[in-house]
Amino acid sequence: MSAISILVVDPSPVTSHFIHELLHCEDPSLYQINWCSSIKDALNEPRDNPTDLIFLDHNLSQTSNKNYLGKARQNRFPIPIVLLGNSVPCDEERSLIEAGASDYLAREQLNLYNLKRSIRYARDMKEREQRITELLDYDELTGAPTRQNFYRRLIRRMDNAKSSSQQVGLMVLNIDGFKRVNNSLGHRVGDMTVQEVATRLQKALKPGQQLARMSEDQFTISLVSHNAQNDMETLVDRIRQLHRMPYNQLERKVMLGCSMGCAIYPETGRDLDELLRHAGTAMHQAKKERGCTFRFYSEGLDTDIANQIALEPELLTALRRQQFVLHYQPRIDLDSERIVGAEALIRWKHPTRGLLYPGEFIPLAEKTGLIVPMGYWVVYKACKDLEAMLEQGLDINRIGINLSFRQFQDETLLPTIQRLISHTNVDPRCLEFELTETAVALNEQHVGHCIRELSRLGLTFSLDDFGTGYSSFAHLQKLPIDTLKIDRSFIRGVTDNADDAEIVRAIINLAHNLRKDVIAEGAETAEQIAFLRENQCDQVQGYYYSPPVSFEDFCNMASPEQAQSADIA
Ligand code: C2E
Ligand code: MG
Ligand code: MG
Repeated sequence: MSAISILVVDPSPVTSHFIHELLHCEDPSLYQINWCSSIKDALNEPRDNPTDLIFLDHNLSQTSNKNYLGKARQNRFPIPIVLLGNSVPCDEERSLIEAGASDYLAREQLNLYNLKRSIRYARDMKEREQRITELLDYDELTGAPTRQNFYRRLIRRMDNAKSSSQQVGLMVLNIDGFKRVNNSLGHRVGDMTVQEVATRLQKALKPGQQLARMSEDQFTISLVSHNAQNDMETLVDRIRQLHRMPYNQLERKVMLGCSMGCAIYPETGRDLDELLRHAGTAMHQAKKERGCTFRFYSEGLDTDIANQIALEPELLTALRRQQFVLHYQPRIDLDSERIVGAEALIRWKHPTRGLLYPGEFIPLAEKTGLIVPMGYWVVYKACKDLEAMLEQGLDINRIGINLSFRQFQDETLLPTIQRLISHTNVDPRCLEFELTETAVALNEQHVGHCIRELSRLGLTFSLDDFGTGYSSFAHLQKLPIDTLKIDRSFIRGVTDNADDAEIVRAIINLAHNLRKDVIAEGAETAEQIAFLRENQCDQVQGYYYSPPVSFEDFCNMASPEQAQSADIA
């Protein structure tokens, strides 16, 4: 056991010598006694020397003693302080102890027995405090610092950054779909998943970057740097890589997305409160997209959220006022480089705000239930548009229509879709409903029943954003799903990230083994296209060929004359 290091703070060295003598009679190797004459020296001293206990002279001006104690307590000073003085009345002793002293020893009582008792008492107190701090400061499940602990550290980091002209980057990270993991797989799996997330995050950190668990499925990471934006981006890349591997909890493999938002002190968060709020706003913005998405806070984001709230009443009338339109994004067959189909994507022609994209109103429509009638309108309109395309001689064999998980909660789904299709002249085999894995996983039995019934009508199905939801390969075998659409977050990395390339190759192989087609979403570069072609991906949908365009533009693009006269890329 190492020696106990004691610092005596007293104008005269006499008491220090006395304590030295007493303790050294016992066993000189057990104690090391240091002395300094003023509180000022004492304030510096313990930080340089690993001091275990301080004896502080009570006569060193009482107010300054209390200040010292107050300060020590405020800073959670980790060293116990025993006051040394003349006999004092009990109530004064109590007030000193309340102010932060561990104990009070009158000089005339200074003998080996009392000294050792005081040392033992102070050490016990310290150990107990440390244990409580540990319990309060560290999350039991993950071992990561808790919210309160994180706040304290963050305030210190902001202070230090200010004096060294650095920045503090704060990231708020939320696990996507965590409630569903809890609800469908149970809390034990939920807990194990949170532990695994924390382990992966910890792995992604570089020295000096601090992780904390803020709530059930929310973490924060802070870093101090001269270029916080840059360091954050690097960190995000590492998190994405680590997060992408499936979570092997119990017998079911789960893939989880996460949403990350970041604000930077002092640029986009001037104090703790603002920094946290802005990083949270950015995280909520990132939530609108699937996969491991990330956003920096910028001034417009607050208004975006306020705008979304303001949209709610208008959304209710938008359908009646025919303010929605469908845009079409071509699907290209990689062998022939021809347009063979399209995905119908909804837009809102807002009377004052211009064209709004689905990320801005679909979550709201899902929340309010308006997605149900809106979804039927999309089916009807897509059928009508397809009819018109075929009349114009377009060689289109598939139109993808997105179905929200929420639409499966509508009891009339089957008869309504049947009725809508029977009112048009399209061959149901040309319609492909795009489902997300999560929508299927939410209520497997019911969704399974619905899509089996719909496929009897000839309708086809694809799994959208494949790889970002519940990776249940069982769905692929059990359900009548014809196509996998690989999420664009994987396609983005195929040319420079070995893991992404591996994942995409594996998905293509898997799909082909199960006799399904594969569509790569979000291909933007010639290199990505080359990779996909080399790996026998069937189709591509991405900006490299075309973004979603209006119905008229799509018809022009896909017209037989156009196909003969020009290469679409
Ligand atoms: P999604 O079904 O995965 O649709 C693909 C999204 O990726 C579209 O965004 C498309 O514009 C975008 N995209 C395609 N290629 C690229 C690319 O190369 N680069 C980039 N950066 N993006 C690309 P959009 O139109 O904003 O739609 C977002 C999501 O909104 C859709 O994701 C879909 O989940 C949902 N959505 C769209 N229309 C409907 C609808 O009618 N009903 C329902 N329930 N959801 C819809
Ligand atoms: Mg889709
Ligand atoms: Mg998609």
